[in-house]
Amino acid sequence: MFESRRPGGEFGSADLPVRPALQHELNPDGSLSVHPPRRCPRRHPVPDSGTFSWIVALGLHSLICHRCRDEGHADYQWALIDPAYEQVDAEEAEGAGLELVAVPPDEAAGPGRIELHLDGHAVGVATLAVCPEDRLGVLEHVQVDDEIRRRGYGQVLALAAFSRLDWYTDDGPPWMRGDRRAQALRAVQRGVGYSWTTTLIEDTPQARGFAERLPLPKVGEPRYCRHMLTAAARLTS
Ligand SMILES: [Zn+2]
Ligand SMILES: [Zn+2]
Repeated sequence: MFESRRPGGEFGSADLPVRPALQHELNPDGSLSVHPPRRCPRRHPVPDSGTFSWIVALGLHSLICHRCRDEGHADYQWALIDPAYEQVDAEEAEGAGLELVAVPPDEAAGPGRIELHLDGHAVGVATLAVCPEDRLGVLEHVQVDDEIRRRGYGQVLALAAFSRLDWYTDDGPPWMRGDRRAQALRAVQRGVGYSWTTTLIEDTPQARGFAERLPLPKVGEPRYCRHMLTAAARLTS
């Protein structure tokens, strides 16, 4: 499921790891709250010792953990993304920095994908199928270019997929209306209780490490519903 892919060009020097540790919350009055992480990956409390800044090359906020830096860890700084909220569709993409670009399916339960763009170039992709009727999701594939491994991009793509619930509804496309991002957050709220499975994981240390970090009880046994199978069959016939 997790595969390497040859890069198609140069992507600039946005070298920071990206952590999916930012969370936007939709309040009942329609306003948004933003929740930064409370701790760094080494469990240092962030409000006491962290510093936010803006990484122009990625178009994302970043966080510096002063304790990690004082202790001499090279990864004391990382970028933050909310994989559920910070998604755009192809027309909205700015072609700058790091962007999650969602490409919805043509029909309910059909295969869709989320691409990760760096300065307008696709450097990774997750493919998935979601059925709102059966409340099932299958993460089929996560690919990240070889050149930009170990930055957390695969994890960001997987979590973006897990947040992508009823992106095709009986209301018909477009898959989100009004404030698309607020709609996405509503979808996440509605999506509590969806069951996610994945296709088979490659037997490589890298792929296994990726799978172990997924927030799923187990991986490698996809559960497709009849709607997904019908939609997939229509595509290939
Ligand atoms: Zn730290
Ligand atoms: Zn179904």
